[in-house]
Amino acid sequence: MAAFVVLTVLVPLFACAPDSDSGSTARSTVAAPTNAAHPSRTPTPSFFDRSALSIDDPTSIWLVVDKLRPLQPASFAPSDLVETPLPHLNPPSLRAEAANAMIAMFAAARAEGAGAMQLQSAYRSYSLQVEIYGGYVASAGKTGADSQSARPGFSEHQTGLAADISALPLTCALAACFGQTPQGIWLAANAYRFGYLLRYPADKTAATGYIYEPWHFRYVGESLSTEMKRTGATTLEEFFHLPAAPAYAP
Ligand SMILES: [Zn+2]
Repeated sequence: MAAFVVLTVLVPLFACAPDSDSGSTARSTVAAPTNAAHPSRTPTPSFFDRSALSIDDPTSIWLVVDKLRPLQPASFAPSDLVETPLPHLNPPSLRAEAANAMIAMFAAARAEGAGAMQLQSAYRSYSLQVEIYGGYVASAGKTGADSQSARPGFSEHQTGLAADISALPLTCALAACFGQTPQGIWLAANAYRFGYLLRYPADKTAATGYIYEPWHFRYVGESLSTEMKRTGATTLEEFFHLPAAPAYAP
């Protein structure tokens, strides 16, 4: 009992530690510096290798695309796209691994009481993005277009690993208030279990270059999404120590 009380008191002192949100890990971290050779010490979790997969290769599920990191080549198209058999607005293609995870995530959302959802938009080709971005430029000018749409070659949707999700019946589709729907709340808390990341959080616009998009989810695989959750990093830029990408290079 006494030891428990001491630890409970100690833990808040280490609240700034990157993994302080995971209680048991934080406690063993607290004990480690003075007690490294203790025979009953809990083994440290295996080291997470941040360079295990490429963040530059467009076929890598860890690829980081932002306003400073276009897809290369700009016209890249994934080779393993599949139609995702889920409710949708536009026929939704995703890379096979991301599609399977999305199907499992939709099923869990229903089973855990968050309700039904649909895919608004998933894979978008380079040429489709040329059309979409061109439409925004025509109606709102280049500055206006850049605030609403990614330039061709810079969209996560072109990776086949990203999708926009909305609630059914449709409410707050592609709007900030989606974050307050049962579906949006559930996704924000649980997407990581399926390898997905809420890619554009409200408080990280300066790092990502995008306004809060509670509907946009990016597949990175469970090992990375779980490690990001554990460390408290909410953007790929932070986790991989990349420069903030608030705007396109001049
Ligand atoms: Zn999106």
